[in-house]
Order: sequence, then structure tokens, then C-alpha cells
Amino acid sequence: GKKLTIGLVPADGIGREVIPAAQKVMEAALPNRFSFLHLDCGFEHFQKTGVALPAETVQRLRDECAGALFGAVSSPSHKVAGYSSPIVALRKQLDLYANVRPVASPLGATGKPIDMVIIRENTECLYIKSERLLSTPLGKIAFADRQITEYASKRIGRMAYTIASQRLAARRAASGSSAGSLPPKATVTIVHKSNVLSITDGLFRESVRAVQADDPTFADIHVEEQLVDSMVYRMFREPEVFDVAVAPNLYGDIISDGAAALVGSLGVVGSANVGDTFVLGEPVHGSAPDIAGKGIANPIAAVRSAALLLAHIGESTPAHRINAAVDKVLVANDPSILTPDLGGRGTTDKVVRAIIAAL
Ligand code: NAD
Ligand code: MN
Repeated sequence: GKKLTIGLVPADGIGREVIPAAQKVMEAALPNRFSFLHLDCGFEHFQKTGVALPAETVQRLRDECAGALFGAVSSPSHKVAGYSSPIVALRKQLDLYANVRPVASPLGATGKPIDMVIIRENTECLYIKSERLLSTPLGKIAFADRQITEYASKRIGRMAYTIASQRLAARRAASGSSAGSLPPKATVTIVHKSNVLSITDGLFRESVRAVQADDPTFADIHVEEQLVDSMVYRMFREPEVFDVAVAPNLYGDIISDGAAALVGSLGVVGSANVGDTFVLGEPVHGSAPDIAGKGIANPIAAVRSAALLLAHIGESTPAHRINAAVDKVLVANDPSILTPDLGGRGTTDKVVRAIIAAL
């Protein structure tokens, strides 16, 4: 068939190690299916050229690629003139309004399998960065505006129900033969704090609910709500009960980083930045300057991000195979293969070879 063009944007630090690793796994899962386009971006590129995100990178992603895989950028904590994070700019320019983060492990922190997906709204909430500082006779006062729109909330709600429907279909297909067991179900948990923030979070929860009420194709998805503070409590105690969770930007940011701790390491959690016309897979970790260049970065987060990318562009069979191969390597728990973040003494390369062997 026709080749799929996949953009690869490794950017900085261990991005340069984990993206080629993920590329090898994609090639092994679907030989001769992809053509890869290597594109520049990042802090190191900025230091060389004065540009963090070349216009050519954005344009070629848009015009030539079915989707892309991003590594990580380094963002110095001091302000550098002319530099701002290229991943934030990329999400904006490609209108990637959802951050989709599966938190899955055959053996989670509570000793049980975890298989949830967090869908974080990526464009508004407190992150519109509308802040003011007033000096008053009583001292300084800082304000921030929080924007919740019906449009963005419905858009992210639709994404959550769509993903829940896909998971339900996959569960039904998998359980087709086992008579007598409970019928598969899918649940969307709406995360908010509308008991306190009744106008903003109230609009979020109503809008997400309205999407289901208006669309009969989502009728068989079970909808629940969880206040964000008790969501954190329940995720710590019984993460295995959750399926799909959808949240406004700030709550989604916090619960999704916290959820990474439930599955062992930042080095195993992938994500996808998703819009209506483009998807960008991205491991949730950063450029990890402390281990960059040593060949010991865990490639699993990037590999799972590649699987997510494939699932979003209609290649769900290889996506499942890749995740199953990763699970096998994790369950085997061989310290001579796994990288140091998971307590092993292996290398990026050994993990890649083990995943490919398990495919
Ligand atoms: P980090 O994720 O880079 O590293 C945190 C810790 O986790 C480090 O000890 C690192 O060695 C370890 N780690 C991360 N990924 C790993 C992997 N794949 N395998 C093994 N160990 C791994 O976060 P940080 O140290 O706070 O930030 C470093 C740089 O990355 C900063 O410049 C920061 O701005 C940037 N950053 C970028 C992104 C992004 O690109 N989206 C996200 C977070 C941080
Ligand atoms: Mn974050």
C-alpha cells in the first residue's frame, strides 16, 4: 500500500535517543509502511540558529505528514531572550487541543493492572495566562483569569466519548467468545470542582454532559463525575477503577503527572497531542540532561507514544501489538534489560531489542 509519512522531531537531550528507538519499533511492527521525515526544533537548534521552531518544520508537518512523534525540549529556567518553548507553539499552531495520556501498566502501584486514559483540555482554563499584580496599601494582590468555553469543553468532551467508544468496541471484540462474563462497559469520569466553582466548572461539566445527550452514538457510555480533590484520593487508592477521565487544563495537568507515578516512571508514560486534523505523539518526560548521551534513557514512553500515534491514524492493530510487546517486557522484569529508572542495569538499545523480539 501507500507509505505513511511520519514526522520525527527528536529536539533535545534524550529526545535524540528515544525517538530513533521508537522509530525502530514502528519499523519492526509494520515493515516498509512508513517513510520518516526528520525535522528540526528545540533549544539546541535555537542556540545554533536563533530559531527554536523553524517555520519549515511546522509547514512540512502540516503538508506532508500523517502524524508525528516529538521527543522533548529543554527549557532553561531563566529567561532567554528570543526563546519560548517550541512544543507549546507547535500545539497552538497545529491546534492540538487535547492532551491524551494513557496511564497503563500490567502491574501498577497498588499491585493491580491499571488501564486508564486522561484527556486533558489543552487550550484554556488558567493557562490563558491572564494575570495581574496590583500594589495596594495592604500589600500586593495577584489575580488570574480562568476561561472555560462551551466550545472547548464540548470539543474535549467529544474526544473523551470517542475514545471511550473505541475502548468499548475493543473490549467487545476481545470478549466476544467468553460467554457468561459481564458485558464490557466504558466509563467517562468528568473531573471538576463545580461545588465551589459553579460557573466555570459548572459550564465544563454541563458541556461535557451535553455532548452525550446530543449524540446517540455515545448512549452506551457510562458517565460519572468526580470532584478533583477526591479524584486524586481515589487515583492513589484504587487507580484500577478508572477508565477514561476528562478534565479542564489545570486539573488535567496535575492528575496526569500524578498518575505517571502510579505506573513506575516518567520513562514509561506516553501521550498524544490531538487535534481534528493532526496528532503529535510525545513522551511525557523532558530532555533529562542528567542522563542524556549515556544510552540509558528508557525508550518505553516514546514507544507508547508511537503506538498512540498509530492508533489515532487508524493503525490500531500494530498499536495494540506494540503495547502488548511493551507489557511483556515490563512483566518479564529482567534487570539486565530494563533501564536504571526501573531499577535495571540495561540500556535503551536492549529495551528496544526486547520489545522488537516480543512483537
Ligand atoms: P525530566 O523529565 O527531563 O527528568 C526528570 C527525571 O526523570 C530526571 O532524573 C531524568 O533522568 C528522569 N527521566 C526522565 N525521562 C526519563 C527516561 N525516558 N528514562 C529514564 N529516566 C528519565 O524533567 P526535568 O529534569 O524537570 O527537566 C529537564 C528539562 O526538560 C528541562 O529543560 C525542562 O524544561 C524540560 N522538560 C520538557 C518537557 C517537554 O518537552 N514536554 C517536559 C518536562 C520537562
Ligand atoms: Mn505538566
